[in-house]
Amino acid sequence: METNKKRQIAILGSTGSIGTQTLQVVEEHPECFEVYALTANQRVDELIVQARKFCPEAVVIGDDTKYEYLKEALSDLPIKVYAGYDSICQIVEAQPIDVVVTAMVGFSGLRPTIVAIKAGKAIALANKETMVVAGELINELANEYRVPILPVDSEHSAIFQCLAGEMHNKIEKIILTASGGPFRTFTKEQLEKVTKEQALRHPNWSMGAKITIDSATMMNKGLEVIEAKWLFGIGAEDIEVIVHPQSVVHSMVQFVDGAVKAQLGTPDMRLPIMYALSYPQRLDTKWDRLDFGKIGQLTFEKPDLERFPCLRHAYDALTMGGNMPCVVNAANEVCVSAFLNERIAFTDISRLIERAMQSAEYKLKPTLDDYIATDCEVRKMVETWI
Ligand code: MN
Repeated sequence: METNKKRQIAILGSTGSIGTQTLQVVEEHPECFEVYALTANQRVDELIVQARKFCPEAVVIGDDTKYEYLKEALSDLPIKVYAGYDSICQIVEAQPIDVVVTAMVGFSGLRPTIVAIKAGKAIALANKETMVVAGELINELANEYRVPILPVDSEHSAIFQCLAGEMHNKIEKIILTASGGPFRTFTKEQLEKVTKEQALRHPNWSMGAKITIDSATMMNKGLEVIEAKWLFGIGAEDIEVIVHPQSVVHSMVQFVDGAVKAQLGTPDMRLPIMYALSYPQRLDTKWDRLDFGKIGQLTFEKPDLERFPCLRHAYDALTMGGNMPCVVNAANEVCVSAFLNERIAFTDISRLIERAMQSAEYKLKPTLDDYIATDCEVRKMVETWI
């Protein structure tokens, strides 16, 4: 990274968990990073506070009914104010932006990510759904426009860090670690009755609601298997998931000679965020360090696909390919939101996803329009079952 020029950053989803932590990284190293644009979907008051503090060139609020309110609140500052999803897609094209942090939730991350790639911006990928839904397409575009896709997801950052310096050395296997979530030791019967409050209490990581529920069902790990396939070019059969309740080992890579490299750290998302922004450099931090004497032991166990069928659905979708990961993602997004609104039970999530996989129209070679159509149709279909 050039030290004489600050890296200009656009954060899509700046008021969410990853967005606010990205801003903490910027604060930690103001000599390296500058905020060019911030976008949020709904949380306008948080966006106003952020904009007043970081003084970006531009802010965008997804919900356009909040435009006047936002504009008025920032009227004394030289900040351009826009509204609507199309504006989020457009702002990433601004010439000074070097890197776009894609930290919005779900399928909505796909379009702005594509626009950013076509504008030649490096992508700090925090929106895993983009790779899940359209990994093949994103990779083609990233190659064509020669932009790097830098993983922010902690497991994928770990793998990325393990691969530094390995050049063309062959990977035998990727080992993704999973915390197992709050229900790791629950029986099938107990899982039928868990509440949203229980599901939202993640043992190790503090994250947004959607990903916390995904962690509880282990769909998060399933989505990450798909994400890993596209980020690292590894087939589903060579990606292993291992439950590691301490969340100290963030993931591992096994090479053809049998050597295994792992990346370890505290469960703090700021580290993978910063690595994506400063890569290939490492910057100093004063954050907590691991204390192995205190940790005592690290344990590993096989995931149980009987109790956590979402992980199996994700593997199946990856093997089937085409638009099937997009089907799983759309069904999952609807189900998670229905669970959070207490309209379905926890175990209905995996049941409805399986039903969506059986019912949706399969397309082997989907285009972007096919992905958009699949997403829309599956959402409607699953809604009618709820
Ligand atoms: Mn992760």
